[in-house]
Amino acid sequence: MQHIRNFIGGEFKEPASGLWIEKINPATGHTSGSIPDSDQRDVELAVASARDALSRWSETSPQERFLILERIARLIQERNEDLALAETNDTGKPLALSSNVEIPRAASNFRFFATAAMQFSSESHAMPDSINFTLRQPIGIVGCISPWNLPLYLFSWKVAPALAAGNCVVAKPSELSPTTAYLLGEICQEAGLPTGVLNIVHGLGLKTGEAIVRHPDIKAISFTGGTQTGKTISSITGPMFKKTSLELGGKNPCLVFEDCDFDKTVSEVARLAFSNQGQICLCGSRILVQRSIYERFRDALVQKAEKLRIGDPLDEHTQFGSLISEAHLKKVMGYIDLARQEGGICLTGGEIFRPEGRCKNGFFLRPTIFEGLGPSCRVNQEEVFGPVITLQVFEDETEALALANDSPYGLAATLWTRDLSRAHRVANKIQTGIVWVNCWLNRDLRTPFGGVRQSGVGREGGWEAMKFFTEPKNVCIQYSK
Ligand code: NDP
Repeated sequence: MQHIRNFIGGEFKEPASGLWIEKINPATGHTSGSIPDSDQRDVELAVASARDALSRWSETSPQERFLILERIARLIQERNEDLALAETNDTGKPLALSSNVEIPRAASNFRFFATAAMQFSSESHAMPDSINFTLRQPIGIVGCISPWNLPLYLFSWKVAPALAAGNCVVAKPSELSPTTAYLLGEICQEAGLPTGVLNIVHGLGLKTGEAIVRHPDIKAISFTGGTQTGKTISSITGPMFKKTSLELGGKNPCLVFEDCDFDKTVSEVARLAFSNQGQICLCGSRILVQRSIYERFRDALVQKAEKLRIGDPLDEHTQFGSLISEAHLKKVMGYIDLARQEGGICLTGGEIFRPEGRCKNGFFLRPTIFEGLGPSCRVNQEEVFGPVITLQVFEDETEALALANDSPYGLAATLWTRDLSRAHRVANKIQTGIVWVNCWLNRDLRTPFGGVRQSGVGREGGWEAMKFFTEPKNVCIQYSK
């Protein structure tokens, strides 16, 4: 049983309300601990300690920030085993995914932004009689709110640049996956991060999250989560003129052309559809396949999906774990029912999976593939955020593009073709923030990351993140000739 507490002013604290929320391991369905049901009073305390720490932290040298963030990265690496286990117990994802991908990436996030602190620079613009230079100053106290699907990975993706840029942070992880953020508090203590620089408040989105968003002393909000929550947040921060970055949902198209490398594409499409049980904002869910290879591709993909080893996420052979919660499983099952009502044909999956042993009460669903659903069906328009994909047929490039762009979302697309000119043409015209050609999730942390339309506003990654977490101030000095 894990009893999680808030990390405020460098100390672990119980919530002001004295109330706790039950934490469930979704792979077993059993209670695994409790988290604080924090409210405005806890956020107020976190803001007060951030305020106390701000002037010192914002004036530390880039080298000092580099050293501390780099120590945090090293400690995350050293504690990979317990962090990965915590991540898997909170989310039901395969342990191999947590320990080989997600926790190493959290360490990379801190290391990357540690070096960014050292490298960050700003512009100067010369006039005939004057020189302009731009100061990039920390914003002050910033709020970071992250979702449950890639917990420490996404939490650190926000917190690390915010700290590297010299801000103090009040952060909230998802109530469903709080443990690694809690352990990060211990790591920050050990790494020597000054008290109050990072404050982690646990609790519900509507209570704790909104208290962070509404707090007048929190000058910027970096949010990753659902589109509906993004709308609520921007309706609060807009009138407050609060700098806001929104990384939201997706309904990502995957365009498979007849000239693709067939075997590689089948494997990679299975991976991009079903990694983390389809619960990654970048997962492809609308698979568009050229007619000449449609049947062959469909049958090969179904076979791949059926071969995925589903079960206890702690088993090293497991490739596919549980969904995050019973409520989410019900939501995804609702979309499966809807797909059937809309006339879809279920090629595989579509039903709950009951493993034997300790996971018999877990929230498992088989990887699911539908065909026969048109582009305007709700299942092709709305984000399911689970292991449910649809196959659609296209004749040529023009139709492929029309289908791909027929979406309110615009996060990421993948193209599978060996025709270089086609790859350029389609990448140019597709309406998403990210395009991968013959690969998926190939990430360079320097590149801009984010979506268009209902997938969000703003970009994370590299200098984009450092710019978001700083305020530019132009200074113009005239000199006599
Ligand atoms: P939610 O929007 O429900 O929640 C995200 C975070 O916001 C959680 O910490 C949540 O707290 C908190 N929250 C909820 N309501 C409010 C509110 N009114 N004010 C402030 N904070 C609030 O998303 P999920 O956690 O369900 O995550 C899944 C979604 O995230 C999917 O739509 C997915 O596409 C998107 N996502 C986008 C990514 C991107 O980079 N574009 C990356 C990963 C996921 P609590 O959990 O306690 O309710």
